[in-house]
Amino acid sequence: MKQKVFLILVAGFMLFSGAVQAQDKKYPEQEPMTHAMSEFWLPRPNAVTPGSIVTNTAPSDAIVLFNGKDLSAWQNMKGEAARWDVHHGVMTVVREAGSIRTKEEFGSFQLHLEWYVPRAASGEKQSRGNSGVYLQGIYELQIIDDYSEETYANGMAASIYKQTAPLVSPIRKPGEWNVYDIIYTAPVFKEDGTYLYRPRVTVLFNGVLVQNNTEIRGTTPYVGFPRVVKHGDGPIMLQSHGDPVSFRNIWIRRL
Ligand code: MG
Repeated sequence: MKQKVFLILVAGFMLFSGAVQAQDKKYPEQEPMTHAMSEFWLPRPNAVTPGSIVTNTAPSDAIVLFNGKDLSAWQNMKGEAARWDVHHGVMTVVREAGSIRTKEEFGSFQLHLEWYVPRAASGEKQSRGNSGVYLQGIYELQIIDDYSEETYANGMAASIYKQTAPLVSPIRKPGEWNVYDIIYTAPVFKEDGTYLYRPRVTVLFNGVLVQNNTEIRGTTPYVGFPRVVKHGDGPIMLQSHGDPVSFRNIWIRRL
């Protein structure tokens, strides 16, 4: 019995001294992050010429998010009316109006949208035809004109921004429509706020597979690495990066 008590005391002391040592231990300071630290340029996805455009109109069980007429399905980030330009069946980013998001929120879904960068687009690298589709309002699938101006591979069109480059690059040139078909599976969280199952996404870009059940590792910030943030259903958000990117034929099916 005495021996047992002694062993427990020794074990307790060892644990206590371990804790003290851990507290005293000095770890190196971390360098401040810059945006360039999370960019990679190689390997570069190969260019692929897509086939003829597939403009699927909405199937009967889809929710039409933009039918070419109005922005009634959308609001700005403050929950006010969305003030992007709507003309000729197309909606276009208005810089001052900021990003917009759907009024409805979604879990897993199939999303179709078409996007367009004008032929006269200007700007360099990430400032050329930049927008983005935020899945559940959190994870950015990049939209950008990297046809005319190279950018880092994990910031190209159809990249999971700053995470996963597209498998290939079937982008069409400015002045032509591009099509995204996105199949997204929402994450499941543990009670402690970490992922039990990470979000996953499959993307067809102009009919070509570019993300194949890709695991999303967390948020998609410009500076820094992915962070895991617990969330429930969320909107589809379209980014205003200040560039006049246009959209048409947007519909979604809940899964
Ligand atoms: Mg973007």
